[in-house]
Amino acid sequence: MTPPTLALRNHDAVELRRLDVAHHLPAQADYGEIRDLGGSRIITRADGCQFWDIDGKAYLDGMAGLWCVGVGYGRKELADVAYEQMLELPYYNSFFKTATAPAVRLAAKIAAIAGGELQHVFFNSSGSEAIDTMFRMVRHYWSVQGQPYKNVFIARRNGYHGSTVAGASLGGMSAMHAIGSLPIPGIEHVIQPYSFNEGFGEDEEAFACRCAQEIEDRIVQVGPHNVAAFVGEPIQGAGGVIIPPKGYWLKVEAICKKYNILLVADEVICGFGRTGQWFGHNTFGFTPDIITTAKQLSSGYAPISATIVSRAIVEVLREKGGDFVHGFTYSGHPMCTAVAERNLEIIEREDLVTRTRDVTGPYLAKALERLKDHPLVGEVRSKGLLGAVEIVSEPGTNHRFGGKEGKAGPIVRDACIQNGLMVRGIRDSLVMCPPLIVSYDQIDFMIDTIEKSLDQSTAALRAI
Ligand SMILES: *Cc1c(COP(=O)(O)O)cnc(C)c1O
Repeated sequence: MTPPTLALRNHDAVELRRLDVAHHLPAQADYGEIRDLGGSRIITRADGCQFWDIDGKAYLDGMAGLWCVGVGYGRKELADVAYEQMLELPYYNSFFKTATAPAVRLAAKIAAIAGGELQHVFFNSSGSEAIDTMFRMVRHYWSVQGQPYKNVFIARRNGYHGSTVAGASLGGMSAMHAIGSLPIPGIEHVIQPYSFNEGFGEDEEAFACRCAQEIEDRIVQVGPHNVAAFVGEPIQGAGGVIIPPKGYWLKVEAICKKYNILLVADEVICGFGRTGQWFGHNTFGFTPDIITTAKQLSSGYAPISATIVSRAIVEVLREKGGDFVHGFTYSGHPMCTAVAERNLEIIEREDLVTRTRDVTGPYLAKALERLKDHPLVGEVRSKGLLGAVEIVSEPGTNHRFGGKEGKAGPIVRDACIQNGLMVRGIRDSLVMCPPLIVSYDQIDFMIDTIEKSLDQSTAALRAI
């Protein structure tokens, strides 16, 4: 690893933080807190699985940026592809019967990877937009078949589907609903398949059945003729790396079939190798009608997302849909699609999906086991390169510090960051999602740092 060159002097750091407070509104932040802290942590450069802040401090990136930088930082070929495409054709749109070569090529590549019936791709710039596209397309699909009332979506509490009005509404996070008076009508939230909370101590199969039953009950209650689709993340990411109990997805799939409801997998995090297969639905063995993807599609090098749709849906749209009056200025953006195509080539060339399934994923699972007997740890879990550690106040229970859910994760996360590891603290868990190129040594560093940070946080946790 090359040592960081401090591109910016300390004076610039002070000035940038001042300007951050004065003018910049960062995402998902408490603006009063950012002001009181004197500005955000400013990140200046990155390489491989590591990044550096403006003060020259190095971090191992245990979160792949924001669940996206699969191929790691510093890939010159991705920069070269972007540069060449911008010189040749920096922009053209895909409205009104036009397309560009990189967009068409990427659609074909994604269809080849997705396989089966998932053969059609609509491009957007973000995961949230991929969800919005799905949302409108699903309702349109039923409407043009004479079923305009078949428009209700079923999603899960504590699911995450982005920050737009449709995305935040489909998501099941009450803090997000509270901002902007959401959810919008037509969305029903059901139990999340979170064994450590909702199903603590319950037999795995029994819990899977109970979760599935709640979905079926809700469908019956709303009326199957009113339900358009079920939407869920194969593994909930932002909700806390929640891995459903065995059998859950097959039961959900069967229920959707039984009631003629579309099944949508939000693969924005799970897509393109994260779980050790190309998609999360491959890992769990079910077949969705639509999948939404983003993040690892370009490894974060360019903003792009893809809504991937089955042949059967597109057949209906072709026969009866008329104009699909929906699209974004940057749908199929040439630079973004060119970068994404090369990113997928890198994932294939370096065999990162198989490596995640057979090498690094199992290694992470084994390394996490070292934390299992730590007095502050209630559970460790992982699938591929997604992992979580549950922090509890009493071993063997799911009791939380302070007597209620929510405070422990951020405390231990802050200690990890102090110790040079970027992970996330979600309520009472620590979650991780390292780049797919992560090494054994880096996984060991992650687990050792989490252990050290748990130890250092004990007093602060007991004081909650
Ligand atoms: C991140 C995420 C989104 C939203 O993606 P953005 O690019 O932030 O709009 C949607 N769904 C899931 C599952 C995500 O993890």
